[in-house]
Amino acid sequence: MYLFKRSEDLQNWLQTVRGHNRKIGYVPTMGALHEGHLSLIRQSSADNSFTVCSIFVNPTQFNDPSDLEKYPRTPGRDIELLVSSGCHALFMPDVDEVYPKDVDTRLQLDLGPLDQVMEGAFRPGHFAGVMQVVNRLLQLVLPDRLYMGQKDFQQQAIIGEMIRLLKLPVQLVMADIVREPDGLAMSSRNVRLTPEFRQKAPIIHEILLRIKQEKEEKSVAEWKAWALQELQQAGLKPEYVEIADGSTLQAVDSFKAARYIVACIASWAGEVRLIDNMIVKR
Ligand code: AMP
Repeated sequence: MYLFKRSEDLQNWLQTVRGHNRKIGYVPTMGALHEGHLSLIRQSSADNSFTVCSIFVNPTQFNDPSDLEKYPRTPGRDIELLVSSGCHALFMPDVDEVYPKDVDTRLQLDLGPLDQVMEGAFRPGHFAGVMQVVNRLLQLVLPDRLYMGQKDFQQQAIIGEMIRLLKLPVQLVMADIVREPDGLAMSSRNVRLTPEFRQKAPIIHEILLRIKQEKEEKSVAEWKAWALQELQQAGLKPEYVEIADGSTLQAVDSFKAARYIVACIASWAGEVRLIDNMIVKR
C-alpha cells in the first residue's frame, strides 16, 4: 500500500493507475478504523481496480472543539488494518493540504430541508463542514465510486444530494452498518464509552429492531415516545428519536406515509454521543 501525505503525490500515482477501464473506489474516513470502515474498503476492492482510503480528522465538521480534541487517533494500527484489507493507497493529508490558504473550499449549497433535521438540527454547521471536506477530497481523488456507510444515514443522503446538485462524476455506494456481536453499531467513538455505558449502549439497536419488527403494533408517535422512555430508563440521554422518509429525511406521522422509511436515534451514553439507524420499510 502506498501512503501519501501530499495531494500532488497522490495525484501523480493516480495518473499512473487510471485509464484502461480501471475504476477507482474511494473511502473517506477520520481514522481510528474498525470493521465498519474495513467493510467499505473490502467492498470497494471487490468493485474497483484500485481503492483509495483517506484519513483526515476534518476540523470544519466539529461543532464542539472538545469533541475534535478527544477524537481517537490510531494511525499506526490504521495503516496495518488497511494493508490487510486490500487498500491500495492511503491519503493522510495535513490540514493545510486539504484547506490551502489560497483556495476557497467553502461550499454554498441549498439542500432544502435535508440538513435542517436530526444531526443538522443538533450539530449546527456540521454538514456544511462535511460537504466542504468531501467535495474537496473528491476533487483531489476524482474517484469513480465513493463508499459511505449507512451508519451515518443523513450524511450519505446529503452527500448524494451534493453530488447531484454539483453534477459530480462519481457514483455513491451506501454500505450496510457493521455491528458488534451485541448489536452496538461500530464507531470510532465506542472506545471512549465507560464499561457501564458500553453495557447499556446496545439498547439503541434493540429499540430500532423492535420498531422495525413490530411497527404495526403502535403509531409512529407512540413508538417515538416509547423509544425515548426506554433510552431514559436505561440511563442514556437521547437527543432525538426520529422516524423519517428515507429519501427526504422529513418526519413521517404514519408508516404508510412513505415507501422508504428509516428510524434514527442520537443519544448520549455518558460523555459519548452515539448515533444509529435502521431502515424499517423499503
Ligand atoms: P468516519 O471515520 O466516522 O468518518 O466514517 C467513515 C465512513 O465509515 C463513513 O462513511 C461512515 O458512515 C462509515 N462507517 C462508520 N461506522 C460504520 C459502521 N459501523 N458500519 C459501516 N460503515 C461505517
